[in-house]
Amino acid sequence: MSSSDLAFEIAAIRLVDTHEHLQPAGAWRENGPDILQDLFGHYAWHDLVSAGLQPDALERLLNPASGSITARFNDIREAWERTQFAGYGEAIRLSAHHTYGIDEITAEALEAAQPIVASLQNDAERLRLMREVALLDHVQIDDMQWNRVPEPLSPEFFTYDLSMWSFCRGEIENEKIAAETGVTVTDLDSLRNAIASIFLKNAPHSIAVKSQHAYDRSLAWEERTEAEATHALQAVLRDGGTSIDRAVLGDWCWARSIEHAIEYGLPFKVHTGMFARNGRMTIAWVRPGHLTKLLARYPEARFVLMHIGYPYGDELISIAKHYANVWVDLCWAWSIDPYSSSDFVRRFIHAAPVNKLFAYGGDTMWPTNVLAYSLQARRWLTKTLEAEVAAGDLTEKQAITIAERIMRRNQFECFDLL
Ligand SMILES: [Zn+2]
Repeated sequence: MSSSDLAFEIAAIRLVDTHEHLQPAGAWRENGPDILQDLFGHYAWHDLVSAGLQPDALERLLNPASGSITARFNDIREAWERTQFAGYGEAIRLSAHHTYGIDEITAEALEAAQPIVASLQNDAERLRLMREVALLDHVQIDDMQWNRVPEPLSPEFFTYDLSMWSFCRGEIENEKIAAETGVTVTDLDSLRNAIASIFLKNAPHSIAVKSQHAYDRSLAWEERTEAEATHALQAVLRDGGTSIDRAVLGDWCWARSIEHAIEYGLPFKVHTGMFARNGRMTIAWVRPGHLTKLLARYPEARFVLMHIGYPYGDELISIAKHYANVWVDLCWAWSIDPYSSSDFVRRFIHAAPVNKLFAYGGDTMWPTNVLAYSLQARRWLTKTLEAEVAAGDLTEKQAITIAERIMRRNQFECFDLL
């Protein structure tokens, strides 16, 4: 085999997409992005802000009503030039090239591409971009809800996480809970019933359970007694509680959610690693190492630790090596830091069981972005495994087997899709 066989295989494997915040078909059709929102409206603008873009220029960039494409692009051109080589910038360049035929991003090229993005904003193109162009097997969507409306076209392609985010951050959304379950939470028993009812209604239609409460509190977890949880719940119901009350209540709700996830056979996805956006990351909260007490407490659960715990990749490899109930997901990681992700994959292969790694989730909102991020993942995975073959650490046949595993087979095993 030549190295092109490996590249050919990686390009052809129908990839499982374990994580998107894909907007519903109606939003794409009726309120889809213009060319600037499409290219820069995902994580890319976070880098523009880090590079010094001012809030008013950012507001104009993301608001088509604020001016022409040329004027809005000219405002951000300097910040774009500063960020174009970072991972989000690479995703933009891949999208520009593959979807819009743009090799150099200029105001003229963007003006010319606007009719193309408009022509893609219908249900058939939405599905084609993801299923036929990105060559995805299916997408797993975190819409941060408990239930959702089925997709009009190919509902089997669109699967959903059951979000337990609000509970895990120790927030009781009583109005929403009552609308969903008929239960008003007043004490620990009614809270237990509400959580059970949400799972009973929605777990059978979900692919996994999800929480990203590392945005709100530390991932550190403690077993909480009924008395501790009752005390914290009363404080939260009274006035929102302190951060300690919410952490205690969140720990209790998280434990009950994991017990239901086990009961319904659903993996539990946890956001680990860095925050999106700017100026608010508490990096001490996001370490996957905070999870070890929880992982030890629930050996029969299946935990999917997301985003390679960036920048705590080595810590996560150690956890995946030690805990049989942990899987590791490269979702969002290739675009955050492609070199570290590539290095992470090589370290993982030579340290941990290769059945526990997932290659891709874009973590984006629009099908065009899903395509761009999947192209980036395939590109870097190809470079990574080619480097392994060139180093003599894998044969090409072994590299192809690993690609097939981490792009698809591991997900089928973990999410019970076989
Ligand atoms: Zn996400």
